[in-house]
Amino acid sequence: MARRSISRKQTDDLARDLRDLAYNLWWSWHPAAQQIFHELSPFFWEHSNHSAVEVINWISGEELKERLKDPVFFGKVSAVVQKFRDHLSQKETWTKRNAPELLGAPIAYFSAEFGLHESLRIYSGGLGILAGDHAKSASDLGLTFVGVTLLYRQGYFQQQLSEDGWQVERYPTYDPSRLPLSLVRDAKGNPVISTVEIGDDRVAFQGWAIRVGRATVYALDTDLPQNEQRVRDLTAHVYGGDQWTRISQEILLGIGGVRFLRSIGVKPAVYHMNEGHSAFLTLELMRERLVKGKATAQDAAAIAEAEYYVKQRSVFTTHTPVPAGHDRFDYSLMQKALNVFAGSMQMGIDGLMRYGRVRPDDYNEPFTMTVLALRMCRKANGVSELHGAVSREMWKSLYAGTPVDKVPIGFITNGVHISGWAAHTASKFWTDRLGVHWIENVSDQSYWKKALAVTKVSDQELWSLRTILRRQLVEFARRRLREQQLRMHANDVGLFDSVLSPEVLTIGFARRFATYKRAPLFFRDLEWAIRILTSGERPVQLVFAGKAHPRDDAGKRFIQEIVNIGKRVDLFGKVVFLEDYDINVARHMVAGADVWLNTPRRPMEASGTSGMKALIHGGLQLSTMDGWWREAFDGENGWRIGEDSTAPSEDQQDDRDAASLRSVLEEEIIPLFYDRGKDGIPHRWIAKIRRSMRTLIPTYNTERMVGQYVRECYLPAKGAPGRVSRSKGSST
Ligand SMILES: *Cc1c(COP(=O)(O)O)cnc(C)c1O
Repeated sequence: MARRSISRKQTDDLARDLRDLAYNLWWSWHPAAQQIFHELSPFFWEHSNHSAVEVINWISGEELKERLKDPVFFGKVSAVVQKFRDHLSQKETWTKRNAPELLGAPIAYFSAEFGLHESLRIYSGGLGILAGDHAKSASDLGLTFVGVTLLYRQGYFQQQLSEDGWQVERYPTYDPSRLPLSLVRDAKGNPVISTVEIGDDRVAFQGWAIRVGRATVYALDTDLPQNEQRVRDLTAHVYGGDQWTRISQEILLGIGGVRFLRSIGVKPAVYHMNEGHSAFLTLELMRERLVKGKATAQDAAAIAEAEYYVKQRSVFTTHTPVPAGHDRFDYSLMQKALNVFAGSMQMGIDGLMRYGRVRPDDYNEPFTMTVLALRMCRKANGVSELHGAVSREMWKSLYAGTPVDKVPIGFITNGVHISGWAAHTASKFWTDRLGVHWIENVSDQSYWKKALAVTKVSDQELWSLRTILRRQLVEFARRRLREQQLRMHANDVGLFDSVLSPEVLTIGFARRFATYKRAPLFFRDLEWAIRILTSGERPVQLVFAGKAHPRDDAGKRFIQEIVNIGKRVDLFGKVVFLEDYDINVARHMVAGADVWLNTPRRPMEASGTSGMKALIHGGLQLSTMDGWWREAFDGENGWRIGEDSTAPSEDQQDDRDAASLRSVLEEEIIPLFYDRGKDGIPHRWIAKIRRSMRTLIPTYNTERMVGQYVRECYLPAKGAPGRVSRSKGSST
């Protein structure tokens, strides 16, 4: 590049572009963009949990322009901004080639949580992460996509551990002006305010736009001065409060969400309900239709027509394999919350209840959101093959006369957005070896077959990638543990400089501490665990993280149990628990762990996705035969725990699986990891990594997944209506 001075106008323009970029989470899956914000203020970048908006607002306009006068930095920023602009204006997209019918009206994706970035804490776990990854891949593929969710001012919660290992929840209030949000305004510049009736309240709410590449997610927010305080607090917490809060949030999400889209002129082609929380949207669509047709309640034909109209536009993904996990509201709660709404539908609460009951006339049956969603959608799916089958069994009574295998609930197995999850080290590793386009070929099996040939990447290189990623996790854990310790008592922090070892076989376990995930399974035989962890020659170490729901004391006891095991003198530094599991902690853990441990009690894990995030880093799976792993495991690409069947009792299943976990670890995993060639490299371990990556990456990503949703759910049905595909779907 020729040296020439940069004009005032150029730096002004670029500073403005950089500001726009900070407000579009596109940067969160483009390492070069993150690098810029990091470089602008390393301290603030760390301090704000990697928030580009915080950095750009922290740096003064003058400083930014001064910094941009450096031609090298100017060049770097220009290149990133150009790439960003190209993405926004790109016309030749996957959608244009594969589903041009969908270019006009958007897919509206409703989800009670969205896990887009660690600095935007409006998610609690896997459901939200899936929604966030779906939005990012929708943008990558050029799908017209809007998300609808709620803006939780206090997020889920921040987790701290007390000195005796008990989870303590903290609820800091986030200031929207410091988040990547812009208030949705009308043409005159006034905030767009919509209303929805909840109980006797006329609840006013506004919407915040979150830009995710080409996609936009709208987060609805009741924290407005015209609402009473209890109404303002409705959107304080993710899944917070009692049944009243729950139903209120769901009314806001579903009914409010549709009204909000109307008020800003968005006319979706498809409404996708990610879990049943948003299913009230179908009733609002029906109400609109009935009002438009000026139909009366007695007009059965008009009602049937409205139902058909809604069904043609709605699709539903269920995520919950246990009956108790589905939202159910009893008659009195429904009446209290939806009386006005039911009146405006001209059917009263009795009429409305019918839509949420398996047996519409059974007055004792509560209203189930999943039943409503299943009734009112044209396609329904579970999130793995096994979960699809479990769901068909669970809801077969809704389709009386239909054999269980014909119940119209199919499956689309979850995936992860790989470029968003790849640690910078890994992303650079693959770019250096495969070129910048590897990410566009992520779902191409033959591409990965070639990419993983020894001529492209040697055993030495793969092993050095594993070694550096493991060290990064160890150092991250030391830093976090030191901070945890500092908070409790300032002495002894030096202790944590030597916990974990960068050379030891590292097992990662991070997830919500729901008890069915059985975090302490590894320790069911404690003597065995101690022997394995403290082996002089072939040691193992464990890194844990995860939050228990604030009302789940059993989950909190699991956390405490693990924390206390980690405090034993003989295990100190070999079993660690990192506080406040979030997207950032997850990213470090899935990158650094050699083995990703997953122990859900079959068949309660609908899919699970954290293990998929390990793949691009060369992490290997060790999992029960549940969720995605049951269909992904081919005998060679990782390890299984236990049988592909469910034991008669929970206790038996736990015993059986714990025994299986012990033998696989001791007989297969540990020997393989420590079986080193003369060059010090575990060649057979690396072979396993190659096989895992080659067989799993092309399928278990959201590019494949969103492509499948497009073909099977979003595109207008071909042939017989209501047909649901059962195929896993090939790669895109
Ligand atoms: C990926 C992820 C999850 C979901 O993981 P599972 O394997 O489904 O348990 C939950 N929380 C965070 C922060 C994640 O990154």
